[in-house]
Amino acid sequence: MAKPKVAFYWCASCGGCEEAVIDLAEDILKVVEAVDIVFWPVALDFKRKDVEAMEDGSIAVSFINGAVRTSEQQEMVELLRRKSGLVVAFGSCSHLGGIPGLANFWDRNAIVNRAYLTTPSTDNPDKVIPQVSYETEVGELTLPEIYDTVNSLDQVIDVDYYLPGCAPPPDLIMNAVTAILEGKLPPKGSVLSPNKSLCDTCKRNETKPEKLLIKEIKRPYEILIDPEKCFLEQGLLCMGPATRGGCGERCIEGNMPCRGCFGPTDQVKDMGAKFLSAFASMLDTNDEEEIKRIVDTIVDPAGTFYRFSLPSSILKRRNMKGI
Ligand code: SF4
Ligand code: SF4
Repeated sequence: MAKPKVAFYWCASCGGCEEAVIDLAEDILKVVEAVDIVFWPVALDFKRKDVEAMEDGSIAVSFINGAVRTSEQQEMVELLRRKSGLVVAFGSCSHLGGIPGLANFWDRNAIVNRAYLTTPSTDNPDKVIPQVSYETEVGELTLPEIYDTVNSLDQVIDVDYYLPGCAPPPDLIMNAVTAILEGKLPPKGSVLSPNKSLCDTCKRNETKPEKLLIKEIKRPYEILIDPEKCFLEQGLLCMGPATRGGCGERCIEGNMPCRGCFGPTDQVKDMGAKFLSAFASMLDTNDEEEIKRIVDTIVDPAGTFYRFSLPSSILKRRNMKGI
């Protein structure tokens, strides 16, 4: 019997999700035995034309990591959608927009100008910046267009399932692959991780404060972190109250606060707003000046609360008009 065909693709991301597949260690042999990998640009020499030549719907499942921010990424995910029975948004950037989605605090021109013209290390006296099309003696050269706005995968194509995490942990990947192979999948649109908050399973939960008695928010490098106590109790921002569990508390076990890479639970529409409201309810003061003073000790609040979820949040992006 023919094995189910599987594809992997990489959009705007760091590549850590590709590593996560390798992190399956010897389990990857079980995957390779059970499926036929027909497209995986980072590891195998298949081309776009090979995918184009496949019958529509002939790939059983495509795992797509990374956000969508260029015309090439949009074309590729639309192509894979057409060719695939199932599409799984793999990892935080694909699921929610992720770290690349923080670019939505700016726009294309601001980012390109910064990268090619104004960084301290830039040496570009002719002010050359990439063009979508450029005529040369040997013909036209083209590059993909960079979009103004970074999107999560489901803002571009229909997505069947979400595997959360930066990167998704091996046990969740194996559970998802097994569920797909055995046809035991939850309803379409499910996030393939438990629908409860990280605090619910965190062993520091008992020390989580009802009220924050601290007077300022610290960054991890500024204090000696107690490995037993809730980070919030120690004045460190931990996104656990607003974050879906299922990661195995990887950062907490490493004595680092949660940054929120698993995204919100099903009940939460906007992860940053959820954390803000949890944080505000813990502040032990009603004095506006004091609240402002404490909030002002948070370095980059928008980037912290929306670190992984800006494109999929209610905010989606900063309005650049007039800036
Ligand atoms: S806030 Fe962080 S450290 Fe505290 S209980 Fe929740 S996940 Fe654990
Ligand atoms: S603790 Fe938070 S940031 Fe770390 S892996 Fe889990 S969900 Fe992601």
